[in-house]
Amino acid sequence: MELLRPESAEAAAAALGNGSVALAGGTELVPLLRDGIVRAEKLVELREVVPRGIDGTRIGAGTTLAELEVDQEIPHALREACSLAASPQLRSMGTLGGNLLQATRCWYWRLKFPCYLHGGDRCHARAGQHREHAIFGNERCASAHPSDPAAALLALGARLHTTARELPLAELYRLPTDDDREVTALEPGELILEVEVPRPEASVYLKAMDRRKWSFALVGVAAARLSDGVRVALAGVAPIPWELPSADALEHATPLPGTAYKVDIARALIRRALEAVGAPATT
Ligand SMILES: Cc1cc2nc3c(=O)[nH]c(=O)nc-3n(C[C@H](O)[C@H](O)[C@H](O)COP(=O)(O)OP(=O)(O)OC[C@H]3O[C@@H](n4cnc5c(N)ncnc54)[C@H](O)[C@@H]3O)c2cc1C
Ligand code: SF4
Repeated sequence: MELLRPESAEAAAAALGNGSVALAGGTELVPLLRDGIVRAEKLVELREVVPRGIDGTRIGAGTTLAELEVDQEIPHALREACSLAASPQLRSMGTLGGNLLQATRCWYWRLKFPCYLHGGDRCHARAGQHREHAIFGNERCASAHPSDPAAALLALGARLHTTARELPLAELYRLPTDDDREVTALEPGELILEVEVPRPEASVYLKAMDRRKWSFALVGVAAARLSDGVRVALAGVAPIPWELPSADALEHATPLPGTAYKVDIARALIRRALEAVGAPATT
């Protein structure tokens, strides 16, 4: 396998496709390459060309989770989401851009079952083992999005700057359809360069997990109070980070038999999160 070190983000974007894949910290990509889930002839190293660091409300996509969790300028919800993710070693290598684009942890997908997300015609988790899976948006694929920072950024109303355009973070993600099994709307050869994060009046991220450390979210709840109102977004409950229009929207959850317990956890965490940002709890 060849390692390319382009001199600019534009050159990196141009080098992608045709068997080339972008490499940031490698904490997600390397295991996927090792297991043969992602195939690549060339890796395009992003370290020198994707911005890293914090400049006011803009965060370079190459900033590590470890750098974000200690920066007092970063909204509390995002700092907390970073500090509760993975392990210190992974957070010191893993970048924000890579975190937003991490793949599902669904074991059927990771074990290469020919499931819906791999292009097949059925979701093995729905009828099989699905304790960690979704309670929303789970009609075709019942996986649960693993990113804590993505939920925090969704609640905060973040926007992405890519090599091709500017878009709300909410538009980065899409549920898979029969025509397109991708869960992000990033075009081939498009790189995330920066994330712009509005300053909230208050924000919080709460995470229920099997262990207190080094565990993906069973349910993660981010809440942010901004000048135009309060926004709530969840991790670990749908194939993509999930914004709840109101706390009462939990009533529309479609849990599987093994994930019904997540509705109760989400209800309790949403109530606590709304209290923490000084918003009325209605659920
Ligand atoms: C054991 C384990 C536990 C974990 N626990 C958690 C957890 O609890 N919560 C959580 O949120 N995360 C968790 N993670 C995920 C971890 O945070 C991510 O692996 C990490 O942030 C990915 O960043 P990276 O820079 O290493 O990405 P890479 O592995 O380099 O890349 C990941 C993907 O993103 C693409 N990519 C990277 N940067 C860009 C960019 N700028 N533009 C376009 N594409 C890009 C790559 O091509 C690749 O497809 C865990 C991971 C592991 C291995
Ligand atoms: S939950 Fe999604 S990734 Fe997992 S088996 Fe079902 S279709 Fe595949």
